[in-house]
Amino acid sequence: MSPDHIRVRFAPSPTGPLHIGGVRTALFNYLFAKQHGGTFILRIEDTDSNRFVSGAEEYINAALEWLGLTVDEGVKQGGPYGPYKQSERKAIYKEYADLLVARGWAYYAFDTPEELEALRAAAEAEKEAFAYDLHNRARLNNSLNLSEEEVQARLQAGVPYVLRFKMPENVEVEARDLIRGRVVFNTNTLDDKVLYKSADQLPTYHLANIVDDYLMKISHVIRGEEWLPSLPLHVMLYRAFGWEGSMPAFAHLPLILKPNGKGKLSKRDGDKEGFPVFPLEYTSPEGEVSAGYRESGYFPEAVNNLLALLGWNPGTEQELFSLEELIKLFSLERVNKSGARFDPDKARWFNQQYLMQKSDVEVAAAFMPLLDQRGVKADLTFVEKVVALVKERVQFVPELWEQAFFFFEAPVDYDSKVVQKRWKGEVPVFMEELARMFAACTTWEATFLKEKASELMQERGLGFGAVANALRLVLTGGAFGPDLFAIVALLGKEEVLARLSTAVKKLS
Ligand code: GLU
Repeated sequence: MSPDHIRVRFAPSPTGPLHIGGVRTALFNYLFAKQHGGTFILRIEDTDSNRFVSGAEEYINAALEWLGLTVDEGVKQGGPYGPYKQSERKAIYKEYADLLVARGWAYYAFDTPEELEALRAAAEAEKEAFAYDLHNRARLNNSLNLSEEEVQARLQAGVPYVLRFKMPENVEVEARDLIRGRVVFNTNTLDDKVLYKSADQLPTYHLANIVDDYLMKISHVIRGEEWLPSLPLHVMLYRAFGWEGSMPAFAHLPLILKPNGKGKLSKRDGDKEGFPVFPLEYTSPEGEVSAGYRESGYFPEAVNNLLALLGWNPGTEQELFSLEELIKLFSLERVNKSGARFDPDKARWFNQQYLMQKSDVEVAAAFMPLLDQRGVKADLTFVEKVVALVKERVQFVPELWEQAFFFFEAPVDYDSKVVQKRWKGEVPVFMEELARMFAACTTWEATFLKEKASELMQERGLGFGAVANALRLVLTGGAFGPDLFAIVALLGKEEVLARLSTAVKKLS
């Protein structure tokens, strides 16, 4: 079919914080929708009550909001095809499950957990895996092997059951994936998946997902590669319902791999190597905190940009893309089939690029709340000037503090190694003289001050290096920081004189 209106959905299960793989799925859906003037839908797939984590849905909303991936239809936004939360659509699924039974595409299975466990154990003893499928369904405890009366009697007595899909024998299922091309499966290798459980009156993922994609008029399913093995079942479900004609197109995105390229990127990799794998910081119900991109100082633009290039390639050398550019340039055809290796250094590099693109005042504004948290009172104009001096030395806004703290606080301690090396000979006495010269200056400007100080050093026969490093020690407490006379100028006369006087007292 050629849908006239593109409708895509991001369909996370609220089972914990959204992994960046999930965020990338959301981003690709968003880009695809926006490029085609389509609709981006957020559907919450919360039918697995065992895996539900409270707060996870709010987390998903907050993450998409932070990244600027605006949802058109969803739980919060509403829309013509709601509700958008599967737990609020229970009645719908039951109706469709019954339809499949009536048409002979599904059957009641009464096997108890104990029975299934015994079958599994027996198969394992033979070094085989147990599958509930067309090879053994005739021997199991289900409606295919019971009389109609017996089935009705059990249902009336409230015997718990599940509905299983009756996978037909030896059918070649063909599907087209927009990234992988043609994919073919034979139904003989597939099992009879559970579609519905009477115990909690809830559908499983497969049934709910297909029913909703159909009812919500989804035109394209863009999701992670881990769902590719489910595709033949999904195609068969469309066939069973008689919906094949309006089946969405599929695109399965490649995995995001560990930095060493071996296996799927996990939370553990992030913990081990010190990079976030979640968009926002997350505290689990047990109180365990996981780092977030936002809290680590990443800009949302940088995160979108770096995620876009994990799997998609623009076909050019260009690496920096705004969201608008991505909307224009993105295409599923340029999504790779093979996994995309996550490179933490590259991720930091992206952030640095965006930091450099921002004006000093923008960066200063982002730095202000962090200063405030430290109890530092400073005005934006001053912070802007500080930022101008140290911006190129950092990749993240929070790193500005390490590079610039001495602009906001006079040194309390002095680096003892630097003291040993620099605070000796004629230097201490010269510092007092330098202070007197500074005190007499009526102009306070970097080049002018540097000239005046150099003249004085020359008169006293002192090398610039020795004095400059000592002055840096006085002002910063160590041997770091940007251009010395830029520091002198920005700190201002009063502060420089105060720091000189303190140092002379403390160090001499
Ligand atoms: N609820 C599934 C997930 O958590 C959605 C998979 C799909 O998009 O079909 O990823």
